[in-house]
Amino acid sequence: MNNGIFHIPHPVNEPVFGYAPGSPERTALKKEIARLRATQLDIPLIIGGKEVRTGKTAPIRRPDAHGEVLGVYHLAGEAEVRMAIEAAMAAKAEWAALPWEERAAVFLKTSELISVKYRALMDASTMLCQSKTAHQAEIDAVCEVTDFLRFNPLYMEQIYAQQPENVKGEWNRSAYRPLEGFVYAVTPFNFTSIAANLPSAPAMMGNTVVWKPASNAVYSNYMLMKLYMEAGLPPGVINFLPGSGGLISNVVLSSPDFAGFHFTGSTEVFRSLWKQIASNLERYRTYPRIVGETGGKDFILIDPSADLPSTVAAVLRGAFEYQGQKCSAASRLYLPASRAKEFTEALVEEISAIPMGEITDFRNFMGAVIDETAFDTIRGYIERAKNSGQARILAGGTCDKSKGWFIEPTLILTEDPRSESMVNEIFGPVLTAYVYDDRDMEAAYRLVDSTSPYGLTGAIMATDRGRINRALTALQNAAGNLYINDKPTGAVVGRQPFGGARASGTNDKAGSYLNLLRWVSAVAIKENFAPPSSWRYPFMMGDD
Ligand code: NAD
Repeated sequence: MNNGIFHIPHPVNEPVFGYAPGSPERTALKKEIARLRATQLDIPLIIGGKEVRTGKTAPIRRPDAHGEVLGVYHLAGEAEVRMAIEAAMAAKAEWAALPWEERAAVFLKTSELISVKYRALMDASTMLCQSKTAHQAEIDAVCEVTDFLRFNPLYMEQIYAQQPENVKGEWNRSAYRPLEGFVYAVTPFNFTSIAANLPSAPAMMGNTVVWKPASNAVYSNYMLMKLYMEAGLPPGVINFLPGSGGLISNVVLSSPDFAGFHFTGSTEVFRSLWKQIASNLERYRTYPRIVGETGGKDFILIDPSADLPSTVAAVLRGAFEYQGQKCSAASRLYLPASRAKEFTEALVEEISAIPMGEITDFRNFMGAVIDETAFDTIRGYIERAKNSGQARILAGGTCDKSKGWFIEPTLILTEDPRSESMVNEIFGPVLTAYVYDDRDMEAAYRLVDSTSPYGLTGAIMATDRGRINRALTALQNAAGNLYINDKPTGAVVGRQPFGGARASGTNDKAGSYLNLLRWVSAVAIKENFAPPSSWRYPFMMGDD
């Protein structure tokens, strides 16, 4: 039957539902939240399509109501990691041999399940587990997940369609083999969509995967895993392995069949795992592909020509949505001295009006940070800024962990452009502002470019075209995703391929063909329709 040249249905970004009072989606979501809260889950590992319970469990708590437990999950031990590698290797040949459009169909079907039948489940589980508002869960666990699962099949088709030139009597073909071995996907807590993309992108290209989800996101990630299975993903193609990152990585990275690493998380963890891979290099059958998207210290540069209301909106959404726990969240702000007063006054007024609390109360714009470790780290930055003698807290600054891990949206004004909160990734709702001398814009660009080791996202707020152009050129290496008159967060699959360089990662652009290319190893096949019947060349026929 597979003798047609098939095309992937043209993907369209999933519309974002509004969840306004009285809307049917809001009613369905509230009902689903209530259902999940009334249920205790016992989440197993899934290896070779089978549920595995190790008996070693950890509780799943709501970050914004940490007394509330949603269930437990089982942690993998060394034996289960080996089982997962074996399952991935056992499933490999059949999965790779399946026609590409059949593989695509599994993920297209998953996207349909998520966007219709299980929309409320994906939103509700992400809200409860990761403390996202309805809007933040919707753009992540429904829209971005389904976008990845619909656009990546199109990129797969485009990659396979890339074929070499031919001359008369010769046919050249490129085949795009999956990697020789399995892929290890390690995903972060902060986006269910990244948890979807990291295992599914290599799998789509014919690889099999051992997936270690973040401990703080096991709940929503498990829902996702179940939906792949409902959509017909064969056993062993993706193996779901919650547990300790260190323990799992030690076993995975010592396997000769380890062939690719798809990581998103902190720079520190990525660097340590890259070193571990390097030290094991002789063990591997093939040089592993390493793809990692890591931390950020994302900037908003306010030019003196910036428009005030849209800048304030960009700063508030960019810095504080999802409690600043986006790799792309704005965390350093550059204010022009000539307009610093009006911008800080407007920002302080708006930040003070941000509603924060349990995400089950839909009036809130912010929930809690993910766990106590994050809470303590973020609070440490705020306290040290307070005591530094070089900074003032203009808004927020209060932290309360009595019921949930709540940190007020905080604006720090510093006199030191290289103070720790201007340089380090804090990963919380803390924005540090510095007032620059706008009589010397070149010095300001140099400062923005050189302050932090990261290069993920940045925004330029300006109305003057010449200055926008100059800033774009001056800051071209400061970010992999640059925004003009917009917040530096919220990249959309198919529209803003995402990733950064420097300490922010390998910039293999999630949500584009560039990422999928990393999961194949091309083979060039030349066929000669008129092979020579003699080994002698004409020039050898005589010496005159
Ligand atoms: P993290 O580095 O703590 O954890 C990421 C994953 O690595 C988790 O699954 C975790 O369990 C695992 N892990 C942790 N320590 C490990 C170890 N020693 N060995 C093996 N695995 C280990 O990151 P996080 O807190 O989940 O996510 C936040 C970080 O992710 C931030 O730094 C953020 O900037 C980054 N991030 C980057 C992007 C991007 O696209 N650039 C997107 C989202 C998040």
